[in-house]
Amino acid sequence: MVIIISAPSGSGKSTLVNELIRQSPRLAFSVSYTTRAPRGAEVDGQHYHYISRAEFEQRIALGEFLEYAEVFGNYYGTHQRYAQKAETEGCDLLLDIDVQGGMQVMAKRPDAVSIFIVAPSREVLEQRLRKRSEDAEEVIQRRLQEASAEVRYAERYGYTIVNDNIAESAQNLIAIVRAERVRYSRQQQTLAPILATYLNP
Ligand code: 5GP
Repeated sequence: MVIIISAPSGSGKSTLVNELIRQSPRLAFSVSYTTRAPRGAEVDGQHYHYISRAEFEQRIALGEFLEYAEVFGNYYGTHQRYAQKAETEGCDLLLDIDVQGGMQVMAKRPDAVSIFIVAPSREVLEQRLRKRSEDAEEVIQRRLQEASAEVRYAERYGYTIVNDNIAESAQNLIAIVRAERVRYSRQQQTLAPILATYLNP
């Protein structure tokens, strides 16, 4: 199954995604391609694949992306190969992508699980962005504006997590993935032989 997680910057998404990966087996994280420069201790191939605009556009033309979007002036995209790899390995594919990408994946994969994470209020988000203190005032203002635009998409996602308490939000995220995995429709292949033992004793 494909799991889409989107959230305005500063909502605590990365912490929650890391916790989900740590606590859930059989999850494959898609490492996105981006044209933005690496930040801090980010490692090429681990956090993102860092490529030039020209290379990104070439890959768009070749149809390599499951989805892509321009966020804060840079391209970001999910390579098809991660979706294929997850499928062959029997893993669920985890996508940490923006709302534009989320819409594209939902259109292509209507059975995708979609989760939107939001801070309890704009005020709390602002406090969190300031606390990180890695961004200039102008960047903080832009992120807040962006958040107002992004929350309009919340209703298009199947689940919403209001991230007030990290531990509780992480538990909710893990619970969503666990519950989605035991849906009848996702277990048909494994269930068939089990149910057959009852039907043909
Ligand atoms: P950042 O530059 O802070 O790592 O990410 C900025 C935004 O881009 C985040 O909302 C993140 O979810 C989104 N993003 C990261 N990778 C992708 C991707 O492959 N596709 C899309 N559409 N958005 C992405």
